[in-house]
Amino acid sequence: MRFVEQTTSHGLDDLRNELRELKKEKNAVILAHNYQRPEVQDAADFVGDSLGLSIKASQTKSDIILFCGVDFMAETAKILNPEKKVLIPDQRAKCPMAMMLNAATLLEARRRNPNADVIMYVNTHADVKAECDCICTSANAPDIVNDSEKDVILFGPDMNLSYYVRRRTSKQIITVPQRGNCPTHHQISLEDILLAKEENPDAVVVAHPECVPEVQDGADVVASTEGMTRYIKDSKKEKFIIATEIGLLHRLRKENPEKTFVPASGYTVCPNMKMHTLDKMVQALKSEEPEILVPRNIIERARMPVEKMLAISAKLRAK
Ligand code: SF4
Repeated sequence: MRFVEQTTSHGLDDLRNELRELKKEKNAVILAHNYQRPEVQDAADFVGDSLGLSIKASQTKSDIILFCGVDFMAETAKILNPEKKVLIPDQRAKCPMAMMLNAATLLEARRRNPNADVIMYVNTHADVKAECDCICTSANAPDIVNDSEKDVILFGPDMNLSYYVRRRTSKQIITVPQRGNCPTHHQISLEDILLAKEENPDAVVVAHPECVPEVQDGADVVASTEGMTRYIKDSKKEKFIIATEIGLLHRLRKENPEKTFVPASGYTVCPNMKMHTLDKMVQALKSEEPEILVPRNIIERARMPVEKMLAISAKLRAK
């Protein structure tokens, strides 16, 4: 299976040293998503969710961004840094959810709903972002929607995040496409949660809003990965059932060594997130390939909705 592909040949320490040297030599920064392999997270300068990574990408002074995440995330870094070189260790790391919505479908939905604001999840490709009024992440989706002056919102591509938002707004939400989802989160079932709870009755259930409505409704807390890490850090509870991609458990255990974490299901692995390895990171920095390229006209149009999201987030954080 693709996701069990491991870092090979050199020892991990040699690869870590080589990465450190290359980073210095090339003035590069390594950004990694919370769902990356443990050794990739440990080698990164910053580990976070899509919002945190977008903010870091917008602030970096480095010449090269080595982005350990999936395609749309690296594209977002490029949109925010058109003059910098954005590299991705393995070009096959693509998000299936982002593939579920193309620009033509969104334009048709916009044509049918001319009075709606178009707010799409960051899990979309650059050409789709170029057609949006604003972007959101799972950390800020309800806030971004509620900040809109319009009463009708075209929202997508995740039907489950759309459910999460609908429960937190009085605006009319039209989901585009109707059944887009993250295959990794969508497969976590209420039965998984009930079973994990039966085995760990003292645990708090924390679920990601990409989970299906029944799982969201059955959880004690629903939050983005960054929201989960914050909640758990502040919580007096000791045990947590985690309903999201399994990679987050590495960070949670590292930051909370005294607490216990149980995955809601043993199958919540995103194979696309697991494609990056230390040796591919070394190779990417050495060869400065594969590079993420986004057409200039798309960058110009996609930048406004991404920057609008960052501005609204900053405004809300300052409150
Ligand atoms: S976890 Fe889901 S949303 Fe995230 S990259 Fe994988 S498939 Fe896409």
